[in-house]
Amino acid sequence: MEICNLSIKELHQGLIQKEFSTREVVESFLERIYRLNPELNAYLEVFEKEAIEQAKEVDEVILTSKELSNLAGIPCAIKDNILVEGKRCTAGSKILENYIAAYDATVVKKLKKQKAIILGKTNLDEFAMGSSGEHSAFGATKNPLNLEYVPGGSSSGSACATAAKMCAFALGSDTGGSVRQPASFCGIVGLKPTYGAVSRFGLIAMASSLDQIGPLAKNVEDAEIVFEAIKGKDEKDSTSCEFDKSEEKEPKKIKIGIPKECFGEGIQKEVVEGLKNVVKILEQEKIYIEEIDIPSLKYGVACYYIVMPSEVSSNLARYDGIKYGMSTLTKPDTQDLIEVYFETREKFLGKEVKRRIMLGTYCLSSGYYDAYYLRAQKVRTKIGLDFKEAFKKVDLILTPTSPTLPFKLGERLEDPLSMYMADFLTVPANLAGLPAISLPFKKINNLPFGIQLIAPAFCEKRLFNFGKFFEQICST
Ligand code: GLN
Repeated sequence: MEICNLSIKELHQGLIQKEFSTREVVESFLERIYRLNPELNAYLEVFEKEAIEQAKEVDEVILTSKELSNLAGIPCAIKDNILVEGKRCTAGSKILENYIAAYDATVVKKLKKQKAIILGKTNLDEFAMGSSGEHSAFGATKNPLNLEYVPGGSSSGSACATAAKMCAFALGSDTGGSVRQPASFCGIVGLKPTYGAVSRFGLIAMASSLDQIGPLAKNVEDAEIVFEAIKGKDEKDSTSCEFDKSEEKEPKKIKIGIPKECFGEGIQKEVVEGLKNVVKILEQEKIYIEEIDIPSLKYGVACYYIVMPSEVSSNLARYDGIKYGMSTLTKPDTQDLIEVYFETREKFLGKEVKRRIMLGTYCLSSGYYDAYYLRAQKVRTKIGLDFKEAFKKVDLILTPTSPTLPFKLGERLEDPLSMYMADFLTVPANLAGLPAISLPFKKINNLPFGIQLIAPAFCEKRLFNFGKFFEQICST
């Protein structure tokens, strides 16, 4: 038995039954990190000493008490835009290269309370902007299943670390697909919760009305365990809320809708084939499937690339060389405050981040606000209404997670529009605030292929139940 292959539940049981110690668990993951990370570049920092210390503590708990929380002693990784007290938090950017987090994000606090073991911080596209992991100031992460390919993004390191078994699970953030798309590219499970289900306190903001933290895991059950641990209302995030929906339907009775766009323009031929295979398998199980129309779906990317950069331009105004991180202030001849702002941002922010700040500033500027931002907000409302309409007919919406299979490193780096199109099928759930999960299906051309299920708000349970059912029929 290889410890790193085990699921969260199996690790938990193994610990309780004393088949292995927490220390052995942690050491086996650390060994993999030291062996694989130099090539993969998934971790930016590893907390070896603390992890071993914490493992000893958990081992003592196991000796002295019978109660052990689900995540006690389970090694995990945290995307480097989520704060862990006393640790560097770079958001993949040079501008935060020297920034030390002053407090724990709420999700981190919750994991620590359960005695999960944080192995380290993972790489990401700068400020979570990107779909390939290549926009990190600290080098690209590679896809562990094929080193010539991108792992997806922006939670590139979290997906890579989970898929390469350098952690049992990881946290990522999803503003337009950044948990689901890398999960799909790396052949694992990724959940974007309902907007408000998980506290954003301590997540470095990208676009606050879209951002959600979610788990990347080996299987659906693991994702569910982590979601249960991190969800819930937090007084430090006023958009967070409590909820407890019990499941109302058996997986077999679920009605599924597939938007017709999933078979149309912009979706790679292999992906359409893959989706048809999924349909075939579900129909063999007598699952009801129909093609549905979500008329505004095709405006998702256009709408997202106005709303998101607008919020980005506002959120990133704080990186001015004065309040946080790196600065040109210490240059001997610096006299002028405005000069410090300009020089700091010019020097320490990356190309893609600057592009979005400029786009967003333009969209919000007087004279253009109505034509871009306001209009995009109306489209956003329409997307939400169209989903509502669709959920009157079906219980879940099925799409591929990404319109293409994983692409090669470097392939889209010089073509931002083609990079943005990678988000076509994931951004609608963010714009509408809905929960969505990416599940691995059979490989195509030896590359991972994932499907996405979208549910009505706060129906995560439905995603988990159906997801487990899907895993089961795929494995038989
Ligand atoms: N790929 C999308 C983007 O570049 C999504 C990012 C995210 O979800 N953080 O904006």
